[in-house]
Amino acid sequence: NKIVKTEISREIKETNENNGFTNGKHTIEDKEWSPLSWRTKTIKQAVVYEDKEHLQRVSNSLQHLPPMVTPTEIHNLRNQLKQVALNKAFLLQGGDCAERFEYCSQDSIESKLKVLLQMSLVLVWGARIPVVRIARMAGQYAKPRSSPTEKVEGKEIPSFRGDNVNGYDPSDRKPNPERLLSAYFHSAATLNYVRSLIGSGFADLNRPSEWSLHHVRSNGTRQEYQTIVDRLTDSLNFMRTIGANTSFSPISNSLNSVDLFMSHEGLLLDYEQCLTRLLPDPETGEKKWYNVGTHFLWIGDRTRQLNEAHVEYFRGIQNPIGIKVGPSMKPDELQNLLDIVNPNKEIGKVTLITRYGAHQVEKYLPFHIQAVKESGHIVVWACDPMHGNTKQSLSGVKTRHFNSIIEELSKAIHIHKANNSQMNGVHFELTGEGVTECIGGSMQLADADLSLNYKTSCDPRLNYEQSLDVAFLIAKYYEK
Ligand code: PEP
Ligand code: MN
Repeated sequence: NKIVKTEISREIKETNENNGFTNGKHTIEDKEWSPLSWRTKTIKQAVVYEDKEHLQRVSNSLQHLPPMVTPTEIHNLRNQLKQVALNKAFLLQGGDCAERFEYCSQDSIESKLKVLLQMSLVLVWGARIPVVRIARMAGQYAKPRSSPTEKVEGKEIPSFRGDNVNGYDPSDRKPNPERLLSAYFHSAATLNYVRSLIGSGFADLNRPSEWSLHHVRSNGTRQEYQTIVDRLTDSLNFMRTIGANTSFSPISNSLNSVDLFMSHEGLLLDYEQCLTRLLPDPETGEKKWYNVGTHFLWIGDRTRQLNEAHVEYFRGIQNPIGIKVGPSMKPDELQNLLDIVNPNKEIGKVTLITRYGAHQVEKYLPFHIQAVKESGHIVVWACDPMHGNTKQSLSGVKTRHFNSIIEELSKAIHIHKANNSQMNGVHFELTGEGVTECIGGSMQLADADLSLNYKTSCDPRLNYEQSLDVAFLIAKYYEK
């Protein structure tokens, strides 16, 4: 009881403080939405900076820095997600749980790009519809935490909250505003290299023969996967031969260039606020608010309270947004939330990313589907089969079983079907590297193997092979 009270008073204190300052011509007295109207609300997962002047200085700098993305790109993604919501395209979203500044390096960026592109190609082939790709990348630096502190070598210290807040090193856990600027520059450098790679033909889909399937232990499964790769290669060869300019997304229309959008959780509103700019809508010319730090942002399962800070921020931006939906979401709450963030009921503006766990998806998803149908909103339904399936390994690290991931995915597909709905996309925590963080998959990683290359700074990710496995399994499902 005492702990609960302390927690509540801490939160109220944080709300009133809210690093409270003004920026530009907006003050927190404004009744209308503004990039800082969220400051009048209670906030979960708040970061409290000791040196407010330092935060103000950093914010002033951030507000001067150029946009990383443009309203035209944001509208392009909105249009593509509309196609997804209408079942005409499929959404693949994936990347690290907690992206680190050190992942801003050539190899790390290339391997993530490669795995996302290969997965999307398998999905295009399997589902026979275009795939919209969104990376959890170039800004996925802030992490919500289940506890504000953690035990490190017997000592209770503040939790690591992401590279844009504090340091992974236990001696560096005090929130430092300077990290917000670092987050901007690391995001910009990452995005710059992604754009260069794509512009230089890295996404050339004509070379899928580079896929290695050696990791697949079972001969039968390897044969199945090989068949998919062969047929896929065949189709691509055929299209090249006849000179087809085949569309891999509703917008991009060539075999060697693709659209890849960026996303992160919109958790750290001190940062998001500074990257929120009033710019002309490319379609109407009317000035509107865009978050120009990324294309797509989502609200986490811990920060989606109807009358609190994150929902207040999200309701004002033009970017397409995601909302994580877990077991604690009430059906009428979901309806209210959709009305708040998308009052005009724009199709595909909101992606609902469901994450219940393999054993709970049947209990909640049908009611959420029903609630959305009644509300009149047309959303993108994505399944995140990661966050409801986190377990402790025998050695005490966080892990996820490949089988639970597949189980939640296949149940979600079936439940949507049975309820006259459709699962439109998937959301994974993955990396292109050979990490050992999730158990199972066609390489049959065992609990005892986790220590071989356990690298994550937060939740366990699918490695390169396991990511391809998932794509093959989904493709096989749709092929039937
Ligand atoms: C995440 O996506 O890393 C996350 C924390 O998810 P959720 O908000 O669904 O728990
Ligand atoms: Mn996570």
